[in-house]
Amino acid sequence: MGSNRKVMILPGDGIGKEVMAANIKVIDWLAKYRSLDFDITEDEVGGAAYDAYGTPLKDETLADAMGMDAVLFGAVGGPQYDELPFELKPERGLLALRKEMELFANLRPAMVFPPLVEASTLKPEVVSGLDIMILRELTGGSYFAEPRGIETLPDGSKKGFDTNLYTTAEIERIGRVGLDLARKRDGKLMSVEKSNVMHSGVLWKEVMTALHAAEGEGVTLGHMFADNCAMQLVRNPKQFDVIVTDNLFGDLLSDCAAMLTGSLGMLPSASLGATDDATGMRKAMYEPVHGSAPDIAGQNLANPLAQFLSFAMMLRYSFDQGAEADLVEQAVSQALASGKRTGDIMAPGCEQVGTDGMTDAVIAALNELAR
Ligand code: NAD
Repeated sequence: MGSNRKVMILPGDGIGKEVMAANIKVIDWLAKYRSLDFDITEDEVGGAAYDAYGTPLKDETLADAMGMDAVLFGAVGGPQYDELPFELKPERGLLALRKEMELFANLRPAMVFPPLVEASTLKPEVVSGLDIMILRELTGGSYFAEPRGIETLPDGSKKGFDTNLYTTAEIERIGRVGLDLARKRDGKLMSVEKSNVMHSGVLWKEVMTALHAAEGEGVTLGHMFADNCAMQLVRNPKQFDVIVTDNLFGDLLSDCAAMLTGSLGMLPSASLGATDDATGMRKAMYEPVHGSAPDIAGQNLANPLAQFLSFAMMLRYSFDQGAEADLVEQAVSQALASGKRTGDIMAPGCEQVGTDGMTDAVIAALNELAR
């Protein structure tokens, strides 16, 4: 019998293909031992799609993705595509998906698994037990708002400019996602802007305050300037639960928070769109933060854990399968505790394994946890 959970799998290029193949083993495990089935459609994206179809994202692939409950994405890119014209570059496929699906909310958790405390550049007591979420507005603000451009001035010199613009509706919709997330976590939402120097920040704070008063039951709202937030993230990151911020500040703060955890191979993300009134489902795409890692591709060296953790986010946020999401996360933690490590997170006294070995360790942990 077909499942009513429609998922599109887009492995992409380089290690994207390897970590996705590993992820399918976890998906198969859940189908076999938890009766959790997905109706899966797989296709090419990025350089692989260019090789197969002459475009980084076929119209049919996009149309299929638009009809899915969730898209699980690997990574795209590679040096062999560097000379392609801009519109044919692998990354255009990813950006087109994000744009057409109107994925306005980007969720980047920063979680430190106990066995990886030493991988952070910060002191263990600062990061141990860290579990925070950065929520970044992804489709507005200074990366998209008009006017923007480079113009020549009367004296022949130039000016380059961007606009940081947010409307009430844009702030409210990302604010609602923030309230929802906080409600499902520890109930704390920190809204971050620069209302001391930017008009868009003044409105951001006003709208967040009003939204919280109207719809924020059960959530404590705080406000912080973005520069202070950057400082607090490295001083005492555990003070935060969910941080909600605009596109530009979110870009910087999510990378800063990511590095608290130590490795690119451990970082998942989710990008969510609006909820469909008819089905109640949100458009959503889940992907590891890392790229296609051409330097290690095809060598069984990639860490698949960021991909697995992205899949766990899919279970939690698209399919409300919190118990299964917890199970996958616990299995990742247990696999790390068993001392198995890919090269990127290798530590003294641990056993270095490849993508396959790390995947086997997670499957073994799932078997043990399910006992
Ligand atoms: P990258 O994330 O691919 O790799 C950076 C470094 O981290 C490399 O040394 C790589 O070996 C290592 N690394 C990354 N993921 C790893 C993993 N899972 N396990 C072990 N090591 C890992 O970034 P880059 O080298 O700047 O970019 C390579 C290509 O990926 C480029 O074409 C870039 O445009 C593309 N890219 C794609 C995405 C995406 O698809 N979302 C994101 C970033 C970069």
